[in-house]
Amino acid sequence: MSPVAAPPAESAAVRTVVHKFGGTSVADAERYRHVAQLLLAREEAIQVTVVSAMKGVTDALIELAKLAASGDEAWRERWHELRARHRAAAVSLLGEQVGGTIEWLDARFERLAEILAALAVIGELPQEVLDRVQGLGEVFSAQLLGRHLQVLGEDADVLDARDVLVVNHGELGVDVDWKASAATLALWRQSHPARRLVVTGFVARDRKGHITTLGRNGSDFSGAIFAALFAADELHIWTDVDGVLSADPRVVPEAVQLEALSYDEACELAYFGAKVVHPQTMSPAIERGLPIIIRNTFQPQHPGTRITAASGGRGPIKGLTLSPDLAVLNVEGTGLIGVPGTAERVFAALRNAHVSVVMISQGSSEHSICCVVRQAEAGRARDAVVQAFSHELAAGQVQRVQTTEGVSVLAAVGDGMAGQPGVAARLFEALGRAQVNILAIAQGSSERNISVVVDGKDATKALRAAHAGFWLSPQTFSVGVIGPGNVGAALLEQLRSAQPQLLARARLDLRLRAIASRSHMLLEARGVQGDWKAAFDAASQPLDLDAFADHLLSARLPHTLIIDCSGSAEVAERYAGWLAAGIHVVTPNKQAGSGPLARYRAIREAAAATGARFRYEATVGAGLPVITTLRDLVDTGDEVSAIAGIFSGTLAWLFNKYDGSVPFSQLVAQARAMGYTEPDPRDDLSGVDVARKLVILAREAGYESSLEDVAVESLVPEALRQASVEDFMARLHEVDAAFAQRLADARARGLVLRYVAQFAPGQAPSVGLVELPADHAFANLRLTDNVVQFTTRRYCDNPLVVQGPGAGPEVTAAGVFADVLRVAAGEGARL
Ligand code: ADP
Ligand code: ASP
Ligand code: MG
Repeated sequence: MSPVAAPPAESAAVRTVVHKFGGTSVADAERYRHVAQLLLAREEAIQVTVVSAMKGVTDALIELAKLAASGDEAWRERWHELRARHRAAAVSLLGEQVGGTIEWLDARFERLAEILAALAVIGELPQEVLDRVQGLGEVFSAQLLGRHLQVLGEDADVLDARDVLVVNHGELGVDVDWKASAATLALWRQSHPARRLVVTGFVARDRKGHITTLGRNGSDFSGAIFAALFAADELHIWTDVDGVLSADPRVVPEAVQLEALSYDEACELAYFGAKVVHPQTMSPAIERGLPIIIRNTFQPQHPGTRITAASGGRGPIKGLTLSPDLAVLNVEGTGLIGVPGTAERVFAALRNAHVSVVMISQGSSEHSICCVVRQAEAGRARDAVVQAFSHELAAGQVQRVQTTEGVSVLAAVGDGMAGQPGVAARLFEALGRAQVNILAIAQGSSERNISVVVDGKDATKALRAAHAGFWLSPQTFSVGVIGPGNVGAALLEQLRSAQPQLLARARLDLRLRAIASRSHMLLEARGVQGDWKAAFDAASQPLDLDAFADHLLSARLPHTLIIDCSGSAEVAERYAGWLAAGIHVVTPNKQAGSGPLARYRAIREAAAATGARFRYEATVGAGLPVITTLRDLVDTGDEVSAIAGIFSGTLAWLFNKYDGSVPFSQLVAQARAMGYTEPDPRDDLSGVDVARKLVILAREAGYESSLEDVAVESLVPEALRQASVEDFMARLHEVDAAFAQRLADARARGLVLRYVAQFAPGQAPSVGLVELPADHAFANLRLTDNVVQFTTRRYCDNPLVVQGPGAGPEVTAAGVFADVLRVAAGEGARL
């Protein structure tokens, strides 16, 4: 055996990295296992992992305390549930070695029960007690992960942050006593030298030694604090999204992931409500230039968002946030003009009433001062200001102190907006177009943030509109495909492979957001990525065409498009409604074009009313430009006097081949074997499909034609129409003699047989077998070629002919795709 080479030294092995896992990453035992595997896969010299409570546990603990303090006995049951959840996770994670941990958990839960019972007696909830209770989730969580690592044989230990971290609650939030904390940690480390540490997030102790927390969502801050205390090289914050996104993905599904942010940008986004990272996380990182990487536990290979001192990426705006539940406080009066110190008095009054001001805006006339405060503090804010200006109010120098409740602040954040004109214009234009009224505006002189106050009812719409204004190309389509069969599947493939080029060259974004078959559908908020078929097969939602259309519209993308590749009349029934809702419809389905006239008219009227487009080029001649050619003729004032042609590839092939040497029935069997016919060849031989195409063309030419008007010669004898496909094929030889006779008769006259469709105004339209001279255009087609001949006022002696392969999923899908691109071009795409 050859000696095994020692692995090369990992450069990462000299580093210290702090990881923080949020509640979204540790919901149950399985997630803890996943987190442990993720940690073990990393080669770090010192690995510090800060954990949140299991998902929902902090809320549950707060609820327990409130219930107990209000005397509601329900807390006992909730307490049991919470204990059971932790015990179950411990059993699952630690297996046979769970014993000690169950005892450990039970002891802490007993202590919790005693506290809750005491709360029930005193009937109130002091902040100090709440702090002790709400932080327990992190204590449990760290224990579970730490023990799990130990059971896996790792050199791991658990650090309870309450034993080392000392903080102080000041006016500007929590500040860390670095000296005391570092000293205690160093001491602790002496007796706990493990390579991997699991640390409780969220909790700490104050200078008096009382247990406290860093505020809701404070574990991110814990991560940054411990990264500083351990002099880490990086802080990785693991959550359930791919990083910081351009907006909250729950409100804006098309939000995009940001590769890089500056600390300032991240801070600003976090302060204004981007929940993904806590604003205070930034300060320990900024001081040390520590990179923060926000990444996805569920997608560990994704690089995530890197937050450093430098701003990265392009574009003036990095992200948009929404802060709800605010109120505008407006102080207005002629007596304010030119009087120094007015603003100071307003803010002093608010400060004394402990009201924090979210945003300030003052017009330069100084006639009014307006600021935004939390809705819950609005009453207090108003009373404080009324009192401070009571004298001026009485004297009429201040006319009004007013609050408007239920407003939201929409903030657009980005370092790149500094010194760049047009950013505010773009924001206001997007809001204006969405009919969102702006109540107040503020831009800090750092030019890193533009904030607008909008009515809470408009907030979601405003955020989406602003997002679209900055991130979406005007040619973004929300696309749904119905019928992923032969043609549908080919189209989906063509769409997928053309996508990068369309995006790059034409900025056309055809975003596939829904696929439906007869049985079920796939609705994707952010667009189907990669293998559509796997995603569709895995979907289980039953088909509901209303929900399908609603989903497409709900994205509020600039345009919506449904591509119907089914052959279904039921789907065609929906077109008028969709068009009326502004949804473009593209289809190779002949049902609408050749179905009842009333429906056809309704579709045309709906399209005309909204400007949505209805295109169905692929219904005739697959990818051949038949309908487009006809439309161009009619639109330019030409008049069609006759339409004729061979519209069926199957029938074309059969009669191109039929020379009497092989019986007709055998040719049909051959065509079927080669896939030239429908599974039931009678669908081709009956002529109905050809008749439908003729009706479509006649209508496009401006004539009110219907399927019932067409004289159709079916090549299927009466006796074989009801038989099964097998019976039909077995008995088709019964027609051979009759066909042979027809061929012989035609030949005797020097003519050939072809299955031809014919329309001329004033004559009955027909489809059927006709005899043609051997040199006729229709008599000299190749294989399955289709041919359509238009005789018009301009093309009267020498008709206009469109000819070529007119069947097959690939070319039909290409015809549909061409229609899609025509719709896009009509909406301004530069193709
Ligand atoms: P954790 O439990 O991991 O701390 P949080 O719930 O605190 O997770 O934060 C992650 C969530 O923040 C995401 O699931 C997402 O819904 C929400 N979020 C809000 N705004 C943003 C944004 N701009 N970028 C990313 N996520 C955001
Ligand atoms: N568990 C705490 C909370 O839910 C802290 C955190 O997870 O960030 O607020
Ligand atoms: Mg969080």
